[in-house]
Parts: sequence; structure tokens; C-alpha cells
Amino acid sequence: MNTNILDEKKTIITQVKKVDAMHPDMSIIREAAEIICEGGLVGFPTETVYGLGADALLPEGAKRIYAAKGRPSDNPLIVHIADFEALDKITADIPPQAKALADAFWPGPLTMIFRKSDAVPYETTGGLDTVAVRMPSHPTALALIRESCGYIAAPSANTSGRPSPTLAEHVYEDLKGKIPMILDGGAVGIGIESTIIDLSEEIPMILRPGYITKDMLSEVIGEVRDDPGFTSADPNVHPKAPGMKYRHYAPKANLTIVSGEADAVVQRINELTREHHQKGEKVGIICTDETRARYFGDVIESTGSRQNEDSIAQHLYAILRDFDERDVDVIFSESFATPRIGHAIMNRLLKAAGHQVIEV
Ligand code: AMP
Ligand code: MG
Repeated sequence: MNTNILDEKKTIITQVKKVDAMHPDMSIIREAAEIICEGGLVGFPTETVYGLGADALLPEGAKRIYAAKGRPSDNPLIVHIADFEALDKITADIPPQAKALADAFWPGPLTMIFRKSDAVPYETTGGLDTVAVRMPSHPTALALIRESCGYIAAPSANTSGRPSPTLAEHVYEDLKGKIPMILDGGAVGIGIESTIIDLSEEIPMILRPGYITKDMLSEVIGEVRDDPGFTSADPNVHPKAPGMKYRHYAPKANLTIVSGEADAVVQRINELTREHHQKGEKVGIICTDETRARYFGDVIESTGSRQNEDSIAQHLYAILRDFDERDVDVIFSESFATPRIGHAIMNRLLKAAGHQVIEV
């Protein structure tokens, strides 16, 4: 094996290997697994976003993840497993609610927090005595976990502070020269990160909203509440998931959300566009198919139909990334308070906008 892959100070060649997402070529998966088992890093698709994988039980694997992403080392990693029994080795106990939630939502976009066992190094958990665990449903991710050592620590495969990657190209943009391999399984299905639930609280608490909603969780385990730390715009209210305190992503151009009834939103964004044009500035707009034709900004990006909230989640991060390549001075976005996952989408968008919202 090329020993350079383990030396993060050297620039390395990043190989991008195309895989059939549903039926990945096992010889490619084994090559990737070999890198992981030796403590190296591989970018790979999951159903939520692309992950940056390392062996979760090797301290140097976790350290390399922090170095490649430029991620603060107090921000713990999620451990990905391929079967429920794998929990035994890495957790100190498994509450009955966890089994019920796993039966309902694993494999899938739900992460649960457990008390950790000694098998999990503190490098992986950012110094915490708890460990976050998820079983992804993506066939490539599952195959990679099974072929490596069964436990892959994988945060989103972006440079810290950039939007999570939803295409292998995004991973390449951020991590080329830093990791030896990226598995390209095409576009991810969901497009926002997993829901995180902490069962150690008296009333189970959502630490990060995601595709699995509070209502879906409540149906299985009864009352569930949101961590006030992530719903609040007040920087003094601290979220329980260390990563939620970081402003995930701020586009280069100033981003403002305009919220309210559709016609009023269009009218206000167009007024704002006129004002900025008078100052000689270029305006970017994030909208939906229903309203796209009504804007005259310089770069107009649609997240898809408002009727299809999955499409909004799928496209949001790619659009935010795109705007950094475009030469705009300000960005205005419609608000996406859609019925089911709107909460999770707005959580990401509000952070990107630094909570700047104009209500109309
Ligand atoms: P990412 O890997 O980019 O999706 O981010 C993982 C998220 O999970 C971050 O917000 C972490 O702070 C959070 N997380 C991971 N492990 C724990 C844990 N043991 N307790 C609370 N939050 C966690
Ligand atoms: Mg992330």
C-alpha cells in the first residue's frame, strides 16, 4: 500500500472511483475498506450526505478526520454500523427505546446517542462519555462498513464551515489532495444530515432535526422534545450536540431569508433586488419552481417544486455551494417552512443566513 495515504502533511492523489450506488463493485469496496482498516480516510455516499469515513475504533483514524476537515476536535463523530448487534461492543447500555427506534427507522437517517464503552476512543467522541451511532441504508455505505472493521466514524465529507456534500464532486472540491479515495455513487437521496436523538434525557430530546421528524419519533416512543439550544437564535443558549453551536456555513455573499405569504415574498425580494441593482450590486435568489419566473435577480436558483419538500432538501446544499462560485453580492432566499421536513431545512438555512430574516 502507498504509505503516503497515512501522512496528512503530504499532498496525495485522490482517486475517485465510480460505483453503482445500489450494487457496488465489491473489488472497489474492498480497496476502500483496506484504506480504512489501515487508519486512512475514504469519502463515500450515504443516503443523507457524503461521509468522510475512518475506522471509528482507531484514535488515529478520528484524528485524521479532524485534520482533513479542519474540524474542531470537540465536535464528536457519528459511528456508522451495519447491524444492530454491533451496538453491543461500542455502548455501555442499550435502552429499550433504542431498540424500538431502530426497528422503526434503521437502517435510515436517525442517529442515537448512547453511553460509550471503552472500545470507543475519546478521539472519536470528542472527549465525551457518550457515542452517537447510526445505521445508514445506502448499499454502498453498508458494504463499506461490513468490509472494513464494522465501525466507521463519518462526519459529512466537507471542509468544516462549508455546506455538506451531496455529490462526489463536492467532496473532491473540498478534500482533493487530502484523502486517497472517494467512492462516487452519484447524488444522495435525502440531502440533509440525519436526525439526532438523545435518549439519556428524561424526555428524549432531538439534538439536530432531520428527515425523521419529531412526530415520527413520538409515534414510536411517546413524548419527544427539541433541544432549545438549536431552535434559539440566542448565541448564549448552548445546544447539547457540540457541532450545533458552529455556524455551519456562511456563503461569501450576505444571505437573508424573506418569510411570509408567497406573493408578498416575491414582491419584497423584487424590491430588494431593485435597491441593490441601483447600488450596482449583483443579486442571487433562492426560490422554487412556482415563483422562479417572477424574479429578475442576476442568479436565480430553484430548489424544485414547493409541492415536493424532498426536492428542497436534496438541492439546498448544492445551491448554497454554487453561490460561492457565482459573483453575487447579496442573496435573498424564500423561506421553506414546509409541513414535514421544513423544520430541518429551515434549521440549516437559518444558520447559513446567520438568522437574518425579513418577515413580510
Ligand atoms: P456531522 O458528522 O457533520 O453530521 O456532525 C455530527 C453531529 O453529531 C455534530 O453536531 C455532533 O456534535 C453531534 N454528535 C456526535 N456525537 C455526539 C454525542 N456523543 N453527543 C451529542 N452530539 C453528538
Ligand atoms: Mg457536518
